[in-house]
Amino acid sequence: MKKYDVAIVGFGPTGGTLANLLALQGFSILIIEKEKSFYPLPRAVHFDDEIMRVFQTIGITDKFLKHTIINKGTKFVNSKNQVVLDWPRPRSITENGWYPSYRFHQPDLERKLRRRLKDFKKVSVMQSTKVNSLKEEKSSVKIFIENINNNKISEIRAKYIIGCDGARSTIRKQIKAKFQNLGFTQKWAVVDLILKKNKKELPDRTIQYSNSKRPATYCRNVGKRRRWEFAINNAESEKKVLSNSYIWNFLKPWLKPSEASLERKTIYTFQSAISKKWKKGRVFLAGDAAHLMPPFMGQGMCAGVRDASNLAWKIAYCLKNNHSEKLLNTYQSERYSNVIEYIKTTVKMGEFVNAVGTSNITGEVSSTQNGQKSMKSIKPKLGKGLGKINDKNRGKIFPQFKLKNGKSLDNKFFDKPLLIISSKYKKKLPKKINYINSNTAKGLNEYMLNLKIDAFVVRPDRFILNSINLNKFDSLKKII
Ligand SMILES: Cc1cc2nc3c(=O)[nH]c(=O)nc-3n(C[C@H](O)[C@H](O)[C@H](O)COP(=O)(O)OP(=O)(O)OC[C@H]3O[C@@H](n4cnc5c(N)ncnc54)[C@H](O)[C@@H]3O)c2cc1C
Repeated sequence: MKKYDVAIVGFGPTGGTLANLLALQGFSILIIEKEKSFYPLPRAVHFDDEIMRVFQTIGITDKFLKHTIINKGTKFVNSKNQVVLDWPRPRSITENGWYPSYRFHQPDLERKLRRRLKDFKKVSVMQSTKVNSLKEEKSSVKIFIENINNNKISEIRAKYIIGCDGARSTIRKQIKAKFQNLGFTQKWAVVDLILKKNKKELPDRTIQYSNSKRPATYCRNVGKRRRWEFAINNAESEKKVLSNSYIWNFLKPWLKPSEASLERKTIYTFQSAISKKWKKGRVFLAGDAAHLMPPFMGQGMCAGVRDASNLAWKIAYCLKNNHSEKLLNTYQSERYSNVIEYIKTTVKMGEFVNAVGTSNITGEVSSTQNGQKSMKSIKPKLGKGLGKINDKNRGKIFPQFKLKNGKSLDNKFFDKPLLIISSKYKKKLPKKINYINSNTAKGLNEYMLNLKIDAFVVRPDRFILNSINLNKFDSLKKII
């Protein structure tokens, strides 16, 4: 029976990201995917700066960037086409070192994630294969898999297994985790089109049509791709809604059939839900297997990438050292409250688009000079877990700094935490400790001075583990 360090079930964006992050550290990985190819229906079209930084760690941004465009933001309009709320995405680089928000085509990303994995010898992929069941053993998990083409059943073993197997997760059922419905359930049609030639009259932002009769969303996607999504009611026939005549009739205010070709169309039930349990022993859930949200904020896939980034370095630590339940338990506690914030905010946005909620979607909605309302993106901290909860910087993202040679400081710590100490203590520190002095990177001294912090420990997933004042030298000694 073959044995791997990690088995990943599901080769969507969560599984692909997690596999890459673990492959960077040389582990043996098996990815098991039931489909023979990519998911064929319309899905994610947006991700943010934090996610691009994870893709940077993986090493795909150079090639992937040309498949993205910078997203200018979203406007919410009412049934009279008046703008009632603006959600601008400034065209400036954020603390993560990237633009706040990008548009993309999900298969382009999945292709790049899969291509990158070919660079690692110890990564194997079994497609057209599904996981049927699991058996936990003392220091590994036995996995029963089935080849879908010939129904042949076989067994493999892995030290850790992660169910990145989407909304209907088999792994979630295997660990008997309850999937809690968080309230939002609504059927929407999603239609992807490719323009035959550019049409300047179409908005270059996302438009949310806040309308109780026909809530709808328009997405300005990459190149000539455009998307419309619209709510349908339960009495409407799905077959009729997906007919070409119905879709072109819906699109009449924007497009004629001669101007674009219909690429893909489907009906989804947009839902909000979360698994009560994300881990049992050496078995984990990540991505849609652990949580679902409607796509109004474009954050479902982003949440899966955040799960992968949080979990990868903890599993890597356990594989290189010893299995630690305490460390691995922080995965759910840190990620759960973060993703819940996104789900709640997305649901509020969905209610506003349905014209049954207020524009007070995030805590930060302000009135602009012309009386319009404007909202800011949310950036929730990690939930309780590693580090001290009364450390006000702990659980926040650590900015991406550039070294004096122009390279990123991120390159120095993708596999282990990084200790950064203010340059003013350089002479007082024991020679043997492994740390970065704040002079090494541009802007780092100013950042530390501003926060009145002398030392930081930053985790490989770019979150702050500890921030320390050296008048409390004892706490630094403990960390060293
Ligand atoms: C219309 C729409 C628009 C969206 N827009 C956005 C957006 O703009 N931004 C964003 O961040 N998110 C968006 N999302 C959400 C995003 O698409 C999902 O969150 C994301 O695809 C989830 O990725 P995943 O890898 O966790 O799961 P999936 O992509 O569902 O992958 C799971 C994989 O597991 C495989 N699998 C399942 N069971 C088994 C088994 N037993 N054995 C082996 N393999 C198995 C499946 O075949 C599948 O390939 C959108 C979703 C929809 C529907």
